[in-house]
Amino acid sequence: MYSRPDGIVIAIDGPSGAGKSTIARLLAERLGYIQIDTGAMYRAAALLLSREGIDLADLAAVEHFCRNLDIRLEVVSGRQVVRANGIDVTDQIRTPEMSLLTSRTSALKPVREALLKSQQQMGSRGGVVLEGRDIGTVVFPEAEIKFYLNASVEERARRRFEELTCKGEPVTLAETIAEVVMRDRQDSERDIAPLRQADDAIPIDSSRLSVDEVLTRMITMCRKKIESMDILR
Ligand code: C5P
Repeated sequence: MYSRPDGIVIAIDGPSGAGKSTIARLLAERLGYIQIDTGAMYRAAALLLSREGIDLADLAAVEHFCRNLDIRLEVVSGRQVVRANGIDVTDQIRTPEMSLLTSRTSALKPVREALLKSQQQMGSRGGVVLEGRDIGTVVFPEAEIKFYLNASVEERARRRFEELTCKGEPVTLAETIAEVVMRDRQDSERDIAPLRQADDAIPIDSSRLSVDEVLTRMITMCRKKIESMDILR
């Protein structure tokens, strides 16, 4: 008998702008699962550390701060809310500056250790779609199904540019390409939990696929997996 009471664990990894968040949200909605946006958790941690003025080179101070770090993902009136130590930081964490700062902060051991533990706890009952960089390799290496969502750098930068300009962020396409390239490099070259496709992950290149096409492929594979297991959901 399958041991997780609420369903399987679905892992979605990949670089920024590959479409993970949109797909994870829709997949979770369709399956009645919970979406866990681990990138939002790293962003919230980076924001708090920066607000506290903690020097990222001072690992003892970072470690001390992370001991009492409490990051929660909530849904309030259908909207995803990110709360860090009780403060709603949902809107402040999405700027280009925060993206780059998060990429630097997320390379630090104390930050990763603190968030790893809470992500594993949040997903332990199953019935979750976790998205990030190290879900299939580190957070849930035993996840029942893993996807690695990718797209060309140009396409990923174009999507991020659209998203940012829609929100009124004053960015250029050239700046957005530079941000995406820099984050790809930082996230995949760090020592701890670098961005990497798990050996047993299903790769999907979304460069030329619509959201619907990607979703249909993934949902079909997830349903098959769920049906093949001895579980109710
Ligand atoms: O997914 P998102 O772009 O919001 O993630 C922001 C940053 O958080 C990434 O560039 C990466 O540095 C970090 N991250 C991570 N591990 C995860 C999720 C995000 O290191 N599982």
